[in-house]
Amino acid sequence: MLDQKSFGALWEAAKRLDCGFTGLPNLEGQPPGMDRLEEVLNTTAERLKDNYPYFHPLYAGQMLKPPHPVARMAYALAMWINPNNHALDGGRATSAMEKEAVTEIAAMVGWTSFLGHLSSGGTMANLEALWVAGQLHPGKKILASEQAHYTHRRISGVLQLPFESVATDQLGRMDSNALATRLEHGDVGTVVVTMGTTATGSVDPLPTTLELSAKHGFRVHADAAYGGYFALAQNLERDARLAFDQIGKADSIVIDPHKHGLQPYGCGCVLFRDPRIGRLYKHDSPYTYFSSAELHLGEISLECSRPGAAAAALWATQRLLPLKKHGEFARGLERGRKSALALFDKLKADSRFVTAFTPELDILVFAPRGESVSESSEMSRKIFEAAAKGNLHLAVAELPVHFWEKDLGLMKRDRDRLTCLRSVLMKPEHYDWVERIWELLSEAASEVFRTSAGGRAKESR
Ligand SMILES: *Cc1c(COP(=O)(O)O)cnc(C)c1O
Repeated sequence: MLDQKSFGALWEAAKRLDCGFTGLPNLEGQPPGMDRLEEVLNTTAERLKDNYPYFHPLYAGQMLKPPHPVARMAYALAMWINPNNHALDGGRATSAMEKEAVTEIAAMVGWTSFLGHLSSGGTMANLEALWVAGQLHPGKKILASEQAHYTHRRISGVLQLPFESVATDQLGRMDSNALATRLEHGDVGTVVVTMGTTATGSVDPLPTTLELSAKHGFRVHADAAYGGYFALAQNLERDARLAFDQIGKADSIVIDPHKHGLQPYGCGCVLFRDPRIGRLYKHDSPYTYFSSAELHLGEISLECSRPGAAAAALWATQRLLPLKKHGEFARGLERGRKSALALFDKLKADSRFVTAFTPELDILVFAPRGESVSESSEMSRKIFEAAAKGNLHLAVAELPVHFWEKDLGLMKRDRDRLTCLRSVLMKPEHYDWVERIWELLSEAASEVFRTSAGGRAKESR
């Protein structure tokens, strides 16, 4: 099941890398404990078996996309050097690779002049964006939708910036009217626009937010940690398309290569439209930047030590699969979205399920139809477990009942949140597995309907 073909290529590349260091005196000895290495590695493999099969298309739950083999191998290759992209002194080649790879991500959103770098993930990238926002609008409010990632509220707390959430519409997107009303009260420094919410992949209305920004003068931060790469996809609906077409008008953007960019964890990216914000990072390090007067990435990043290996992995992946519209990488994203739409159509046509709204990206949410919201919620958990027994791995989420209103019919609204099933179909291969996923899901649902109270009630009706 696990990819083994790339080991050969890694071995060849490691030998080539080794040739870069000939001429040095020979190294004697070996690291301590090497005689027990095999034993410990095997024990490690045993421990790692305790995981869901994230690499398999039947894992269709949380946001987990396997890194591309080239990313895994480039990362491993760089580990023999273990460069540190804080300063050119610690990572010359990988700092250059990081600048090139980030330039390509910036080009994807239409930027040629910008400031940006990689980070340990979306949380740190968003923290930097809000830190900059706070420096430019000290003490002013940060707004994000109720469906924005919870990290924004917490980051605002860390930065001691006031935070407020804005209501969402029935499609899980920031409600522009609610935003406009809130803006009338003034005192807003920055609005976070989520380009693909973590729960449902909903895309906030960036165009109207930009119009409001022109009127009120707040900063716009696009949290595209999950959805950013969909800027390349050709099969989005109108609203999402219009939003992604304008992403370059945001003041700052976060995109996570470790979400949809085929990278191992530890790879986020933050971009600023105005390179002059670099001055905010100014610091004096007495011991870091001596090898070159060129820009050291640590001079424009809050994190100090950062893995050069992450840059090597991303750079290699973008060599293999360039960030181009109509390219292979873009087709992978389009396939994920097609998978979500195909599964959504099956769920919508089946009266056993309730659906909220058509997926805007590749995430869909659904729930079994019960007598009440609480019964439906309980059955969602049971289907989650029954499906897992059949090797289909879904996820569970809690969403406001108003997202489902159109499809609930007479269902008793005895809770204001519905526990539903959530499926992130982010692997290009998912498209070939939609039928199988549906079969397994349908079987699991039948089993739960047969045994649950709601199912019995329904049959006797
Ligand atoms: C995942 C995610 C984050 C957090 O990023 P990490 O890489 O998990 O730290 C922030 N915002 C959105 C929209 C996300 O999907």
